[in-house]
Amino acid sequence: MTARLNLVVLGKQGAGKGTQSQRLAERHALAHVSTGDILRAAIQAGTPLGREVKSVLDSGQLVTDDLVNKLVEERLKEPDAAQGCVLDGFPRTIGQADALEQILGSDGVKLCINIDLPNELVLTRLSARRVCQECGTTYQDSDVAAISGTCEVCGGDVVQRSDDRPEAITQRLEAFERDTVPLLSFYESRGLLVTVNGDQSIEEVSVAIEVVLHAKALT
Ligand code: AMP
Repeated sequence: MTARLNLVVLGKQGAGKGTQSQRLAERHALAHVSTGDILRAAIQAGTPLGREVKSVLDSGQLVTDDLVNKLVEERLKEPDAAQGCVLDGFPRTIGQADALEQILGSDGVKLCINIDLPNELVLTRLSARRVCQECGTTYQDSDVAAISGTCEVCGGDVVQRSDDRPEAITQRLEAFERDTVPLLSFYESRGLLVTVNGDQSIEEVSVAIEVVLHAKALT
């Protein structure tokens, strides 16, 4: 059996993690695992998990490592993860990165792709971001789907995320600096980190990711 291709995508909110992870997963037949999407779906569905985490997400803080570690462990048992996964928004802390090594076992993380974006651009991008509540497709506030409020992919409601407000964005940037920046060193010291410039078009970032993927993980 060939090793599973497990990829981690890191980046500040608004760097394009979700869009690029979705593309990567489709292109290489991997499971797209977004912990943020899983948590938002639980909130939307009003499950006990959703009720537990709603205020944490609204404030821009992180939910506990134990909670997300279990979610990811369960998610990776699903059949679409048989060939590997693209982890989007996980791990976010060193504790989660350690847990991920346990969860993945011998296959491990093949590459960690850091999509880099300066803080100044994060605010501009996030205040214009709209997202489908059903399927997670993202739009700009000037797109027809955002103006009409209806997703072009699934017909779901297109809204502004409650944590894409300035106070929550600041909290999330702080959480990134405090909890996630140390992960860059964690993966760098293992020779697994590549950084891609996020201040380019979606297509350009996509091409840059494919180039590093082929050079480092698919050889
Ligand atoms: P995201 O969609 O990745 O920006 O995540 C949205 C929110 O979900 C975050 O601000 C956190 O509150 C929560 N969240 C998502 N992933 C994680 C994680 N790996 N660890 C802790 N909290 C998370």
